[in-house]
Amino acid sequence: MGELNTFPLSYKVEGQRIVIIGGGEEALNKARLVTKTTALVVIISRHISSDFPGLSIERVERAFVPADLDSTALVFVAETGVDAELAKSEARRRGIPLNVVDVPAECDFFTPSFIERAPITIAVSSEGDAPVLARLLRARIEADLPPRVGTLARLAGSLRERVEALIPSNAARRRFYETLVTSPEIDTALSRSTADGRRVALGLLDTHATEATGQGFVHLIGAGPGAEDLLTLRAQRLLQEADVIVHDQLVPNVVVEMGRRDAQRICVGKSKGSHSISQHQINHLLVTLAREGKRVARLKSGDPLIFGRAGEELAALRREGIPHAVVPGITAALAAAADTATPVTLRNVASGFLVATAHGADDSEVAHWAAIAGQGLTLGIYMGKSVAADVAARLIAAGMSAATPVGVVVNAGRPNRSLHFGQLGELSAGISDIAPGPALILIGEAVAAGDWSAATALAERTSQVA
Ligand code: SAH
Repeated sequence: MGELNTFPLSYKVEGQRIVIIGGGEEALNKARLVTKTTALVVIISRHISSDFPGLSIERVERAFVPADLDSTALVFVAETGVDAELAKSEARRRGIPLNVVDVPAECDFFTPSFIERAPITIAVSSEGDAPVLARLLRARIEADLPPRVGTLARLAGSLRERVEALIPSNAARRRFYETLVTSPEIDTALSRSTADGRRVALGLLDTHATEATGQGFVHLIGAGPGAEDLLTLRAQRLLQEADVIVHDQLVPNVVVEMGRRDAQRICVGKSKGSHSISQHQINHLLVTLAREGKRVARLKSGDPLIFGRAGEELAALRREGIPHAVVPGITAALAAAADTATPVTLRNVASGFLVATAHGADDSEVAHWAAIAGQGLTLGIYMGKSVAADVAARLIAAGMSAATPVGVVVNAGRPNRSLHFGQLGELSAGISDIAPGPALILIGEAVAAGDWSAATALAERTSQVA
């Protein structure tokens, strides 16, 4: 049998009230403690003499009424008299834990001496026997505490879901957390900024995830439209950590070069027309590399989940039990929109935005887009360069107005971009020879709201062709 008459616990008060009956010095002392929480602290007394300097509290200067204890987590009584008696019996009736200042016999709980470095709390209690000793011990512990212990704890908490997803075994997870909370690198990074600390911690997590599973890890990474500064910070970090970079033809060299100098680089081609390596072979390659324990960066242009055949690669990784994650990127249509400041959704003009591929689209699909665009949605058409004339003709045949605004951006998001603007009817002349590079076609009324002042007119091409 133990010897404690109280049990220390961390009691949830978030979203609730903490009520203090009393308006003097003792009420102020308790208020100082409980305002360290997010609870609403309410001071109730007929005479509030303290002005509770710097504390965020609600003052209620009147007699206590039972409804004051609605939604209340804790009650402190720091005065005597009829209000105090009424509050005590109401708290007991409702089963709300009660502390009566300086009357241990009437207390359900005591307030320990504590150190707060949210979310870390360290409490020292003497069950009311020796508060001065408890305060002294608290001061000694405080002196030993690392300065950023609270930030570190929040960081660990924010990683929890990821850690669970990436490190299946309990023991390995514990090893990760042990390293995390003792790593001098993370402490140094946190001293610079929370974001820096998080970045270093994510790197540590990847390393542990790789070791924990004995196999590699595949990141499907969006490289953005092709400019190196349109890459996300996460993509950049993962590229630098990768042992192998497996990239598409469309990802420019400047981005592929951002990986470690000694990382292996594999181009899996798929430039239009030359199917150097099949999708099946790519899936197989990713699985094989990961099985060898490699950290694989599967770099795709734009966003990996948009027309990037990520679905097939993910299915293969899932089927083979290879740990993996997706990092989003800026997709070509949004890079094209940004280049021309085109609001792809626009109040009262375009209520939505549809991304579609022209490649292999059949008549019923094109008719479907036409219907949608006619109802005020902007279309972002990928892989449409060589078939633009055909797509335009079919959209018009399906009922779209030949006067619908059209913008074409070749090499969106890159320094060598070229802009072209006109109407759907003019697109019928085709754009396959418009400029070298990938092209994105925006169609819809909202396109006219963009800034296409630097664009060449599609109409000029029509007249040249005619
Ligand atoms: N996952 C990519 C799309 C790959 S499909 C993304 O999210 O952007 C390839 C098509 O994307 C190309 O045919 C072209 O239509 C478009 N595209 C890719 N990069 C582009 C760029 N920089 N400028 C214009 N279009 C681009």
